[in-house]
Amino acid sequence: MEVHQLTPFLSVSPQLTAADVGLAASMGFKAIICNRPDQESHDQPDTDDIRAAAERHGLEWRYQPVVSGQITDTDVAAFHELMNSLRGPVLAFCRTGTRCTTLWALAEAPRLDVDAILKTTAAAGYDLSAQRDRIKALAGTHSSAEAEDTTSRKRHDVLIVGGGAAGQSVAGSLLQRQPDLDIAIIEPRSEHYYQPGWTLVGGGVFERRETVRQMGKVMPDSVKWYHAAASGFRPEQQQVLLEDGEQIGYRILVVAPGLTLDWDAIPGLRESLGRNGVTSNYLFDLAPYTWELVQSTRKGRALFTQPPMPIKCAGAPQKAMYLSCDHWMRQGVLKDIEVEFCTAGAALFGVADYVPALMKYVEKYGINLNYQNNLIQVDGQARTALFNVTDAEGNSREVEKPFDMLHVCPPQRSPKLISESPLADAAGWIELNPETLQHSRFGDIFGLGDAGNTPNAKTAAAVRKQAPVVAENILLALKGEAPRAIYDGYGSCPLTVERGKIVLAEFGYGGKLQPSFPLWLVDGKEPSRFAWLLKEKMLPWVYWNAMLKGHEWMAGPEILNHRPADHEATQACDFGDRK
Ligand code: FAD
Repeated sequence: MEVHQLTPFLSVSPQLTAADVGLAASMGFKAIICNRPDQESHDQPDTDDIRAAAERHGLEWRYQPVVSGQITDTDVAAFHELMNSLRGPVLAFCRTGTRCTTLWALAEAPRLDVDAILKTTAAAGYDLSAQRDRIKALAGTHSSAEAEDTTSRKRHDVLIVGGGAAGQSVAGSLLQRQPDLDIAIIEPRSEHYYQPGWTLVGGGVFERRETVRQMGKVMPDSVKWYHAAASGFRPEQQQVLLEDGEQIGYRILVVAPGLTLDWDAIPGLRESLGRNGVTSNYLFDLAPYTWELVQSTRKGRALFTQPPMPIKCAGAPQKAMYLSCDHWMRQGVLKDIEVEFCTAGAALFGVADYVPALMKYVEKYGINLNYQNNLIQVDGQARTALFNVTDAEGNSREVEKPFDMLHVCPPQRSPKLISESPLADAAGWIELNPETLQHSRFGDIFGLGDAGNTPNAKTAAAVRKQAPVVAENILLALKGEAPRAIYDGYGSCPLTVERGKIVLAEFGYGGKLQPSFPLWLVDGKEPSRFAWLLKEKMLPWVYWNAMLKGHEWMAGPEILNHRPADHEATQACDFGDRK
């Protein structure tokens, strides 16, 4: 069976047989459309057999025969109607797939640019350039009935993908500004996590349950919650597709699905997690195991790893290590434990100003620093970890290290939802203007949080400052005005160097230090008790009760009274005609 995807909702195929239908069902298709008239040729499989197979596999079946080379406007309208009524993903077939593709192209012609349509069909293997004039002639020809139908379908003023720290904070900030705004959030999880708390769970300070709440309790009452995962974007049609094929429309889209922890990038890691001394504070389920291991380890070798950047909370791998060392020191066993920090990077921390304070703790705890040591394989049973080690001359070799405890920070990447979408930059992250957080090519799309390509530290602290900027710019965009609120790249990393003290790194774009407090209260370059109090007692409260609810304490956005100079291209892109 040959399947060519046109959109996440529709794929086309040459003639199917009844035997192909089971495979189509296993691929996730929910409906089959047959566009080939029965008995068109003598070697054609019996359409009734295919229909029966579809019904057996629980797939919707639609028979809409069209004659090759004679597709009428009525055929196109009927196909469009099917697209709107069926649950997707849909598989359409005819003799070669060309008729189905043509029907799709003509049905989309009123909304999509002719070049975009022809590019899509060509990418799927169908050259429809002969149809260019007909497709072009249909541009902008929505019928009034169709326009009415469009408004009756699910469409929101603001649609947010991801109900994590970023998505919820933007909703909160928007509702503080305009309580009656029509907002929807697409979020598949039933729980919302306070991830910055996991370091303290792994350090025996918090209980795991303090870092989770029911998503329904976090979601504002007036927000419509689609309890599902988004599976694709149709920016030209202002639609997001859900995993079941449902299409949700928007006037403004906010994209905030976080990042993907790539456990499978390291062979042997996933199956070792949670046993044989292998743990990670990057998972809600595993952070308590870190603390268990710390308490039970009294001698041997403890490895703490850090993958190549970017990662969320770049200090988290070190935080786990310092808190573990602090416990071992207090128990008098640190002298019997060889502690190694194995980082793929070439420095202890990205912003040099904080390194001296951290180095004092490295020395105090007797930690071996291993730069350019990238974890590439784990054997949990044998308790060995394999590293790719690069020396100063750039030569690489593999080094195996035995361990008694291994704390892993996994490699991290953009979710496929983004990297395989039209919203991605070359590296796969959401392509954003770093100041306004508006998409660089789609004026009605904004993004923030870990999935964005802005060069700030991927932290909830960054989100706290980004969300008000996005909210402000969305309301301007809904009025047809250019964005004027500006994000300066603020991010923060509270490095828990010992129980009771934190080196509070706060910096913006280019590593520029951005302390929130006067020097006499917190000197970010020195360990601070106040900063620990902030992390342990104040920030969780601020997160749940202020940030997620749109109370922008010490996070109000900077608003220019003119539009940012470098912003012409973004604004001009395509918002203008979408208001
Ligand atoms: P997330 O909060 O991860 O939320 C993303 C949401 O999108 C999730 O709810 C997810 O279910 C949803 N989603 C995913 N795919 C889809 C889809 N297809 N459709 C719809 N929804 C989808 N930050 C700090 O500021 N300070 C710290 O001390 C700190 N420490 C940390 C320690 C650890 C161990 C970890 C793991 C993180 C830490 N962070 C810290 C980082 C911080 O938690 C993140 O930067 C922040 O949560 C990012 O917010 P986000 O909304 O972009 O992503």
